[in-house]
Amino acid sequence: MAELDTNIEKLNGFLTRFEDKGVLNQIGGQAVAAQSGRTFETSSPVDESLICQVARGDADDIDAAAQVAKAAFPAWRDMAGTDRKKILHRIADGIVERAEEIALCECWDTGQALRFMSKAALRGAENFRFFADRAPGARDGQMLPSPTLMNVTTRVPIGPVGIITPWNTPFMLSTWKIAPALAAGCTVLHKPAEFSPVTARILLEIAEEAGLPPGVWNLVNGFGEEAGKALTEHPDIKAIAFVGESKTGSMIQAQGAPTLKRVHFELGGKNPVIVFEDADLDRALDAAIFMIYSLNGERCTSSSRLLVQDTIADEFEAKLAERVHKIKVGHPLDPATEVGPLIHETHFDKVSSYFDTARDNGAIIAAGGTRKGDTGWFVNPTLFTGARNDMAIAQEEIFGPVLTSIRFSTEDEALQIANDIPYGLTGYVWTNDLTRAIRVTERLEAGMIWVNSENVRHLPTPFGGVKASGIGRDGGDWSFEFYMEQKHIGFATGHHKITRLGA
Ligand code: NAD
Repeated sequence: MAELDTNIEKLNGFLTRFEDKGVLNQIGGQAVAAQSGRTFETSSPVDESLICQVARGDADDIDAAAQVAKAAFPAWRDMAGTDRKKILHRIADGIVERAEEIALCECWDTGQALRFMSKAALRGAENFRFFADRAPGARDGQMLPSPTLMNVTTRVPIGPVGIITPWNTPFMLSTWKIAPALAAGCTVLHKPAEFSPVTARILLEIAEEAGLPPGVWNLVNGFGEEAGKALTEHPDIKAIAFVGESKTGSMIQAQGAPTLKRVHFELGGKNPVIVFEDADLDRALDAAIFMIYSLNGERCTSSSRLLVQDTIADEFEAKLAERVHKIKVGHPLDPATEVGPLIHETHFDKVSSYFDTARDNGAIIAAGGTRKGDTGWFVNPTLFTGARNDMAIAQEEIFGPVLTSIRFSTEDEALQIANDIPYGLTGYVWTNDLTRAIRVTERLEAGMIWVNSENVRHLPTPFGGVKASGIGRDGGDWSFEFYMEQKHIGFATGHHKITRLGA
């Protein structure tokens, strides 16, 4: 309890700076209110208390910021990669210095537990370091000589880009998208999620204090259908990197069509964790629990569908239920807390509605299925058993601490269930049979698969989904493929025959 009190005291100290003007936009290095003067409120999911007012940007603010990003682009593009590298490393240093402030503010704004958020802030710094080191080589290309031409390729940054982020782990996800854009030489206009605006502002302040030139990165807060939509439609914005729901991705693709926007989508998931009878069941249990109940289950890569072989299902589900009952739900700033409140009332209503859906579907609620307390948006970690894959609780992304368990008898049936879903982000396969692991990973429809492991992110590997889970990949060089254009130049040796017309 003492640690919780200390953390609350520290948080209150960090938040005083927002008391007066709230969270402002940042355009061309200036902190500005929305041109309309309008604001919206951000409140904490812990007790619904007001955190502060936030600038409610719209098309006018987006236009102002896009023009600034366009004007700042040539100088940033032409800066030596080695200089961009130094600035990005200094941003990482700044994140590390303010990691505690970022973690406490993020927990209060989103309801995420501190035990995960302190690491997420540091992962944000790592994202900057990873892409900082790649900035000097971002333009590297190939030499592809033909008999008469020296053909070379290079890459150039695409231009000012729009980055739209969701409210789950917003700080880490923002760094994940913005760091490669800057390393590539693009300028950025960031529209963070309206439910979690606080740390996006802190992040940009860190960047400008680290020496990022004004206008290279701009921030406009606001609602998706106002500021977000205007950003996707703006003619000076050359690409949109978006993380969020699949249905929002569809809207953005339509909104960006008239200006032929390049899009990169990281969307929803309903990811299977498949546990075969020959697996190391203790490790499988730990990983399955971690991947759905950490981060409040508000995680795109969560293992929200457990596919368990019928020969071991009774015992596995019993152990699972026992552990789920013991997960510690509480105040996000208490270091002992494992699950905090859901982000917002609307999301709480969505997640809770699946408790009735499960009953109506005929599934069993083996744990949870109830609200916790009557203040804040807490739900008890929930386990549905006896489910079939055609039930809504098995097909729809619930995005909370809610696991749906489905039984299978054969490998073919496991694969059939796993793939019978609109999504295809991640898959987790637990087996000690190597040849089975090869067969299953080969046929599983997912962008990322882990065998005998939870999701362990390695930054050089490609991150992204198939089907309704996304378009494109992040990580390593894949991020640069999105933020840059390939260019081919052919230098003739001067000897090839040029066909002569009218000669
Ligand atoms: P959301 O789609 O509701 O909102 C995401 C962002 O899009 C917000 O900033 C919002 O303001 C903006 N937006 C909404 N409508 C828009 C429009 N018409 N035009 C432009 N912008 C618009 O998503 P959310 O509820 O904030 O986040 C949760 C979702 O994100 C889940 O589906 C989750 O799986 C997904 N997600 C995916 C990944 C991944 O890597 N695949 C990672 C994290 C989250």
